[in-house]
Amino acid sequence: MGKVAVGAAVVCAAAVCAAAALVVRHRMKCSGRWARAMAILREFEDKCGTPIGKLRQVADAMTVEMHAGLASEGGSKLKMLISYVDNLPTGDEQGLFYALDLGGTNFRVIRVQLGGKEKRVVKQEFDEVSIPPNLMTGTSEVEQDVVGELTKSVEKIGLDMRVTALVNDTIGTLAGGRYHNQDVIAAVILGTGTNAAYVERAHAIPKWHGLLPKSGEMVINMEWGNFRSSHLPLTEYDQALDAESLNPGDQIFEKIISGMYLGDIVRRVLRKMAEEASFFGDVVPPKLKVPFILRTPDMSAMHHDTSPDLRVVGSKLKDILEISNTSLKMRKVVVALCDIVATRGARLSAAGIMGVLKKLGRDTVKEGEKQKSVVALDGGLYEHYTEFRTSMESTLKELLGDEVAEHISVEHSNDGSGIGAALLAASHSQYLEVEES
Ligand code: ADP
Ligand code: MG
Repeated sequence: MGKVAVGAAVVCAAAVCAAAALVVRHRMKCSGRWARAMAILREFEDKCGTPIGKLRQVADAMTVEMHAGLASEGGSKLKMLISYVDNLPTGDEQGLFYALDLGGTNFRVIRVQLGGKEKRVVKQEFDEVSIPPNLMTGTSEVEQDVVGELTKSVEKIGLDMRVTALVNDTIGTLAGGRYHNQDVIAAVILGTGTNAAYVERAHAIPKWHGLLPKSGEMVINMEWGNFRSSHLPLTEYDQALDAESLNPGDQIFEKIISGMYLGDIVRRVLRKMAEEASFFGDVVPPKLKVPFILRTPDMSAMHHDTSPDLRVVGSKLKDILEISNTSLKMRKVVVALCDIVATRGARLSAAGIMGVLKKLGRDTVKEGEKQKSVVALDGGLYEHYTEFRTSMESTLKELLGDEVAEHISVEHSNDGSGIGAALLAASHSQYLEVEES
């Protein structure tokens, strides 16, 4: 080998070494980034932890707040509103009824023909109007204005509104659930927002000074989305979401449970992983900075992705966040993140239900007791987010224990709120003559 050749060989060897060093440094950089991203994820997971002991504390806090809210106006973050609904449907209702249903995303006018115990719902029709998105995040005052406006427009349409009820969707779900099953004692909505209503013994409402209803019962609209407790597992991401929201400090339970927010919590964690651990490469994907760009239905589609290469996750990241070329390993991290956020929400929802059952003394059974309790559930989150629903239902069983769990069931009250409102119109109008169509 001549000099030149040797020189060239040395240069080559040096170049190979340098390249190898670069690769190693790149790998180290990558593994350093990966480790940092995983540390962010693990820390988030820790803070979101909902071990059974914590859930019991949350359930107890819910029961305590229910008592406080029933004791006096403003006594708790839970408003525990007296609904003045004291006669839930029995199933015997007959005639033609109209109802208005104001949800988080749409408004519906419903017409139901009821045929009594045997025939039940003979015919049901509805007309739907979407609610502008800026109103979805608004306050209840805004909601009331909208109701006023919509009521006017319905009158303009010329509907026969003689026998109509305008009720909160949670109370509607309770009524709809009770119509089909007399064991229904509470209703929970898990949709864009979350709320619960239940049947209280009238004498157990100290703040109520009116005449006690004949039935001895009164439906309470808890407005449980506003529940908060030091036992709730809150993270820096939840605090930021709340601080940047239109109603900081309010609806804390709702902000960690409901469909309006779950996707955005996922986005916030991904953003932090991108910014502090370059999880998606050197450039932080700009779309990660856009609030509410990742919606809960998209989160749930990623969470439910069963394809071996997590194709759905890949395409959602690409289509919504404009992040392409994600590795399978990265996609798995995204699924794990969705799981953490959904599981926390689902388990806390179960703890909330447990709190209501405790308030009613239905969290225990006496020897030989046969009484059943049914909780009617409705809302798009519960209906479509299977992982959320199964986690919530199994957590409730876990909290109740096998023996009591046999006496308690959760039932999907399909479109309970719409029919429920009409049913309330029905049970309030038993003396009115109604037209048959
Ligand atoms: P609203 O609460 O507005 O009355 P719904 O009960 O239909 O209406 O719930 C709609 C909400 O349910 C959406 O805002 C969304 O958060 C959630 N949702 C709808 N579809 C899905 C889905 N496939 N996966 C997860 N969440 C969903
Ligand atoms: Mg609804």
